[in-house]
Amino acid sequence: MSLPRLDRLLTLCFFQPLRKVVGGTREFRLPVLMYHSVSDQSEADVSPYYRTATHPKVFAEHMALLHAEGWEVVSLKAGLQMHGSEKSDRRKIVVLTFDDGFRDFRTAAFPILRQHGFGATVFLPTAFIGKEPVRFKAHECLTWDEVRELQQAGVEFGSHTVNHPELVHLAWEEVEKEVRDSKNEIEQHLGVRVTSFAYPYAFPRANRDFASHLGRLLRETGYECCVTTDIGRAHGNTDRFAIPRLPANGSDDQALLKAKLDGAYDWLSVPQRLFKTLKRFASLSRETVRSDN
Ligand SMILES: [Zn+2]
Repeated sequence: MSLPRLDRLLTLCFFQPLRKVVGGTREFRLPVLMYHSVSDQSEADVSPYYRTATHPKVFAEHMALLHAEGWEVVSLKAGLQMHGSEKSDRRKIVVLTFDDGFRDFRTAAFPILRQHGFGATVFLPTAFIGKEPVRFKAHECLTWDEVRELQQAGVEFGSHTVNHPELVHLAWEEVEKEVRDSKNEIEQHLGVRVTSFAYPYAFPRANRDFASHLGRLLRETGYECCVTTDIGRAHGNTDRFAIPRLPANGSDDQALLKAKLDGAYDWLSVPQRLFKTLKRFASLSRETVRSDN
């Protein structure tokens, strides 16, 4: 058995039944689903855990499940506002996010969202959003005209930097530029304030100095929140500038998606955090060895 499907096995056969016995947290936690491409792109050579495409048929099934289970499906801004309200404990609210600004959001995902009246937030890497479609990661991205049209139809847009770099490897002046210029450009095109940011690639959670500096920078630039690739659901004390999400892709069957929404996938944040800490520790040791030589 491949390791990645171990997440599904442990979630469905261990953590979900365990939660039923010991009971989950009473406080409502906000699931923020993270999708990328909604297309029939084949990812046969990628392990299911790392896949980023969702076949339109599977996406339709996911949305039908949310509808059938009575979830209120909203944009990030609305979700965070509702989550902060007193009545949120009695509601099933879920946020839908789409990273990378792919054009298939408009052609494949949006028609399904519209059928259900669901909200969503799309994060744009602005260097790939043009007058004509620009390709990014083998997909065409939305054009500004399409972004405007979707915004008028109720879709929310956030920043996913300008060039989609690994920010942690850049100098701070460059990080500032990525964060500020992308926000300005979306605001100029859409005429509304951009308040949400999605961190590209794995969020360097174990690098505390970087994470807190980035949070400060985002706040000073006028952002109100930042979503990451950290696994989990948001709770009352979650740092608004390091919001965890639940990755979703075409390999998620109904049982796994349901388990993710209900919190039975949150356990994965512990090995994920441990892995990041070990990785950080290893890279710091390498740097020390280099500077000693
Ligand atoms: Zn991305």
